[in-house]
Amino acid sequence: KNFVKMMKLQTFAGISLIAALAIVHHAFSTRGQFYPAMVYLSTSKISLVLLLNMGLVIMCVLWKLIKKVFLGSLREAEVERLNEQSWREVMEILFAITIFRQDFSVTFLAMVTTLLLIKALHWLAQKRVEYIETTPAVPKLSHFRIVSFMGFLMVIDSLFLYNSVKFLVETKQASVALFFAFEYMILATTTISTFVKYIFYVSDMLMEGQWEKKAVYTFYLELIRDLLHLTMYMCFFLVIFVNYGVPLHLIRELYETFRNFRVRIADYIRYRKITSNMNERFPDATPEELNANDATCIICREEMTVAKKLICGHLFHVHCLRSWLERQNTCPTCRALVVPPENSAPSSSARAENNQQGASSSGTSSQGLSGAAVNNNISHHQARLQAAVAAASIYEKSFVYPSPNTLL
Ligand SMILES: [Zn+2]
Ligand SMILES: [Zn+2]
Repeated sequence: KNFVKMMKLQTFAGISLIAALAIVHHAFSTRGQFYPAMVYLSTSKISLVLLLNMGLVIMCVLWKLIKKVFLGSLREAEVERLNEQSWREVMEILFAITIFRQDFSVTFLAMVTTLLLIKALHWLAQKRVEYIETTPAVPKLSHFRIVSFMGFLMVIDSLFLYNSVKFLVETKQASVALFFAFEYMILATTTISTFVKYIFYVSDMLMEGQWEKKAVYTFYLELIRDLLHLTMYMCFFLVIFVNYGVPLHLIRELYETFRNFRVRIADYIRYRKITSNMNERFPDATPEELNANDATCIICREEMTVAKKLICGHLFHVHCLRSWLERQNTCPTCRALVVPPENSAPSSSARAENNQQGASSSGTSSQGLSGAAVNNNISHHQARLQAAVAAASIYEKSFVYPSPNTLL
């Protein structure tokens, strides 16, 4: 299917090129001289359409080339992000066009298309960095490519930002250049923060995952970036509001920046709480436990000689666990919550009852859960159900679900 798509694009590009060459040839052969030919090319409707189309094709080919050089073939998650984000972005740009409709021109359209393509490259860069950060043993070439890609994006962002600001300073009046200056400012700061985050990741890797302060620095980095973006959005919002009216296209972004901000702070507090006393919170695995289980850490796929045990009984390297907890608060193997919620009335009563049932039916409590610690032999299925109950109790919505007793 991809192949068919590519063939179609190639055919389309070929036809566009032939059409553009034909119209140029026609202009020169009928007008004879350079100047009249140029006048014809820039005024005739059909030649304008053909040349615009050619410009679009050139941009697309260039975009594909850049993608090929820096990223190679895209991962599924990256294609997904591209698809879902490009539609939202097109909608927002349409809104932006309605605001700046006085400035509407062919140049504006070309600039908007360029912006869209550059933005798409930024999403891909972010996704690729995310992928590299979560994948063990990435080849050196990938690192080299992503670093040069981020450098390339930085140069592009600065160039466009510089030109927009220069234009604004020269004309000294509100125009669509405001919009571009703002967009490229956001893109530039995003590129910088992605790059710094990547540097953090590499430093942590060089310290063999032992850099405990990484999460703290990452948090502050993202906090600063979000604050900066929030300020920029509000400034831009005000400027547009004063000069043009309500900037509809910004409302979603503004809201999302606010929401990200809140989520980030909540995540950070949770992470700090879990990792502040990791050594006391999670017991060391005993040599027997290490021998009994397959002693491979599922996070890094390497053998464990010392390990920490979660309440679900799964074992991990302490540093692997820490970097995992930066992103998740569930067990990587079975998805059970790493820390049982404090306000866990439903699940603790369920545990007590389960204990009684276990005692009455088989005479031992090995099937039930003894105290707060979960039995080592608990099946994944049971652990998952337990996690579901725990999650339900966190959100205090357990009445929505069947009662915990029927689950366990
Ligand atoms: Zn590990
Ligand atoms: Zn587990």
